[in-house]
Amino acid sequence: MTNEELWQQALSELETSVSKANFVTWFQNTSIAARQEGVIILHVPNAFAKEWLEYKYHKFILKALRALSPEVRNVEYAISAQLAAIAQKQKLQRVFTPQEEQMEFKEFFVDRETNLNPKYTFEAFVVGPFNELAHAAAQAVSKSLGMVYNPLFIYGGVGLGKTHLLESIGNAVKKANPRLKVQYLSAERFTSELVAAMQSNEINTVKEKYRSCDLLILDDIQFISGKTKTQEELFHTFNTLYECGRQVVFSSDKPPKLIQDLEERLKSRFEGGMVVDISQPDYETRLAILKNKSRGKESYLTDEILDVIAGTVQRNIRELEGALNAVFAKSKLAGRALAIPEVREILMKNLQPRRTVTANQIIHAVAEFYDIQERSLFDKTRKKEIVKPRQIAMYLLRDDFNGSYPYIGQRFGGRDHTTAIHAYEKISKDVKRNPQLSEEIKRIREVYDFNSQGNG
Ligand code: ADP
Ligand code: MG
Repeated sequence: MTNEELWQQALSELETSVSKANFVTWFQNTSIAARQEGVIILHVPNAFAKEWLEYKYHKFILKALRALSPEVRNVEYAISAQLAAIAQKQKLQRVFTPQEEQMEFKEFFVDRETNLNPKYTFEAFVVGPFNELAHAAAQAVSKSLGMVYNPLFIYGGVGLGKTHLLESIGNAVKKANPRLKVQYLSAERFTSELVAAMQSNEINTVKEKYRSCDLLILDDIQFISGKTKTQEELFHTFNTLYECGRQVVFSSDKPPKLIQDLEERLKSRFEGGMVVDISQPDYETRLAILKNKSRGKESYLTDEILDVIAGTVQRNIRELEGALNAVFAKSKLAGRALAIPEVREILMKNLQPRRTVTANQIIHAVAEFYDIQERSLFDKTRKKEIVKPRQIAMYLLRDDFNGSYPYIGQRFGGRDHTTAIHAYEKISKDVKRNPQLSEEIKRIREVYDFNSQGNG
């Protein structure tokens, strides 16, 4: 296979695993420049593309190439002057059009000026113990911009309502005072606007656009991890706004101190206002959200049905909505409320599939993450730096591998099943309270999820 054929085939594979907008923005004008002893040198048009591909897509790229050519060991990225010239010619338009199309398609109505989706309001936001602090902070900020918490930094896992809350602030501010300048955008989009502006020498226009906001809302800020140019620009934008008493709001999937490859000075800015998390919704709030979203459809979505959904779908609100919609669609088709077993069947089908990981992969990933010998997990030692990873490994063996307690105890140096139960319960409890721990576990899972897809 020539380099060109190899890359073309890899691209068609990659195209299926990233969004169209990202694919066009970041994979266009890339090519294999060289292949030497299993290392592929990929030519990319500019520094931003290099950063993105390296930090965000590296493992996908490697996986796609390996599937086609098993001797590939690694991929390195290099900026090509020739490609830069081509990209320069195609400029802005190319970079933006697909993203805009996708946005309109997905959200059908987004305010052109502020980029806010009017459906995300405080009125439509259900408050429960897991999000009440974030909600209160968001409301306070929307009532006195730049005066209470600046910046406001809201973090939490996917589908828990961060975007909804952030946009509610923007919509409330616009409603109270339409003359204020509000901008909502994802950090991903912020980054690609910067790229486009740099390519077309319009960086000052973009700087001006964001530095003149009364309220700037940047969603999913963890995205700028490792992107030094974006971070630098954001730092200056933030300072400009902050010094004039303008409000900035961020969201992230993790607290500032856990965002990797993030400049210290930005981290301390993020932490300088109010940092507040949204955790997982409790049963009562899940039910309240379902009731809220099924108003007017009670004949299809009975209390009993909502109860089953709220009891089954626990992880996040996006999944909860998805499940509700799936059940509703099926009932409409049937022209009646579904029986409970039918509802359960739909839920089983729609929930994320369980992982297909082996016990060894879990143990390996845990040892690797904590930088300890695999063997030490089976030792009798009670050293703190071993005990915690051991408990986490036991927890993961239970949760992701479905191991029985006696098996898990046995697996870890012939321990008793009560040790495994204790470890499982301790970690289950701790992850709810300790975002750092929950983040560590998420990362470990990423490692073996990736490896168990045939990359390990
Ligand atoms: P995130 O940005 O944290 O991934 P979103 O804000 O996109 O999550 O929320 C996912 C979906 O759940 C959205 O449709 C949103 O309207 C809904 N949602 C989240 N939290 C709430 C809530 N507290 N009340 C009502 N709907 C919610
Ligand atoms: Mg979001």
